[in-house]
Amino acid sequence: MKLPFLVRPAQLGLLSAVLLLGGPAVAQKARPATRPAEPANRIGAIREADLKRDLYALADDHFRGREGGTLDELRASVWIAEQARAIGLQPAGDDGTFFQFFHIQRTRLTKASRAIIGTHQLVPNQDAIVFAPVNAVVSAPLVFVGSATPAEVAKADVQGKAVAFVFSGQPADGLSYRRYLTATIRDRSAELVKAGAVAVVVVSDARAQTIYDNWGTGYERGRYDLPGGPNTRVVTQAPTIWLPAAALAWVQQPGQQFTAGLVVESFQYPSVNVVARVPGTDAQLKKEHVLFSTHQDHDGVRKAVAGDSIWNGADDNGTACAATLALMRAFRQQPALRSALFVFHGAEERGLLGSRYYSAQPTVPRESIVAVLNIEMIGRNAPDSATLLGSQRPHRNSADLVRTALAANQAGPKFKLDTLWDQPAHPEGWYFRSDHLPYARLGIPAIMYTTLLHKDYHTPRDEPATINIAKLAAVTRWIYLTGWAVANRPARPVADKDFKLER
Ligand SMILES: [Zn+2]
Repeated sequence: MKLPFLVRPAQLGLLSAVLLLGGPAVAQKARPATRPAEPANRIGAIREADLKRDLYALADDHFRGREGGTLDELRASVWIAEQARAIGLQPAGDDGTFFQFFHIQRTRLTKASRAIIGTHQLVPNQDAIVFAPVNAVVSAPLVFVGSATPAEVAKADVQGKAVAFVFSGQPADGLSYRRYLTATIRDRSAELVKAGAVAVVVVSDARAQTIYDNWGTGYERGRYDLPGGPNTRVVTQAPTIWLPAAALAWVQQPGQQFTAGLVVESFQYPSVNVVARVPGTDAQLKKEHVLFSTHQDHDGVRKAVAGDSIWNGADDNGTACAATLALMRAFRQQPALRSALFVFHGAEERGLLGSRYYSAQPTVPRESIVAVLNIEMIGRNAPDSATLLGSQRPHRNSADLVRTALAANQAGPKFKLDTLWDQPAHPEGWYFRSDHLPYARLGIPAIMYTTLLHKDYHTPRDEPATINIAKLAAVTRWIYLTGWAVANRPARPVADKDFKLER
């Protein structure tokens, strides 16, 4: 018998007596039904060659930018499901398939909508941007009030008029100009309407024009939501119309009439979540799920930049989809004690629609989801840096889960972790812009892995050649080590009791 510790000869008699008189039985009782042994992880299953191949496949022009609610997103989703099937995962969507379909509701101005100033006929979102889809029939004299300072507005009689002004002003330090501009237009319009204006016309100054030119196509496409959501409301109110700087010459001419016939249409069409599962190996713990989250959609085919109109979304979120497929391979090679659930959320770019839907109607019991590890853009910026969102208050909803993720970083890639982007004062509000959010709001421990924004974000220049594949692999290994630890630890991560987001 080999003793694990030194025993003085005087104690040997006593020890022998204990062993003889039922020592082994006592020892067994003290450690009943111990947890099953954690198997060795399969981090070696995460390979750069696989990540690169899958990234290039998804970010290829073949999938036309995978816009939520289009055949392109559907085709990419079928491709992902086919990879999951080939890797050997169980379908975990509806009806025994890998898919969970849901409806997008889109609300926008009809193509027949028009606004006319004097002799200038404006097609909304072609010659002018109309803020918010509104039903409005207006015919009123137009009055120009300079830059709409309180003095200028007071001097003009705005009651019952359409009121035009030139946008001006600069944000306070630290605020993004784009956010300042939209907030200011919204606030000034509200003030003018309160003062009696029946329509508001905003003309860009030189700086606002740079935003106008690069506005993308958000307003052109309307608003998106799940059916019944707040963005499906159709309102009748005074319209706000934003014009390019070149319009100033004719807008400020006196004695013009403003007329508008703006009509809203609202309709539904399908998007899809792809859901796959590797069952756990422990009879009890397999009923619980570690949810690995990403989104497969991007922005589709839009305004061309340098001759390229396909917004391939390689970093956003091809990197995370490739990472998720790699995680599937690793868990398939060696399942953990708990089950691993993989959810590719549809229509994230249209307002986190897939994750809002799945978190409300999960295909596994909601209480069985012990943690959400969300992956959003993980292939850019400095090779040794990354960010864990949801790691600081008020965004942190599980200090326990965060500790596991930080330990996995130390055991694995040892990224220098940014701490600024997770702060509530950060102007980008990055925490609120990905699929962990709906789960966190439901109290499920949730974190997000990202390597942050870059100059090609949401442009056609977000191409696979810009991705650092070695970094993508390193972040994937970090996520794997976190997920592996969570899937094998005896107790599920504890949620913080006092979690409350700032908005
Ligand atoms: Zn994204």
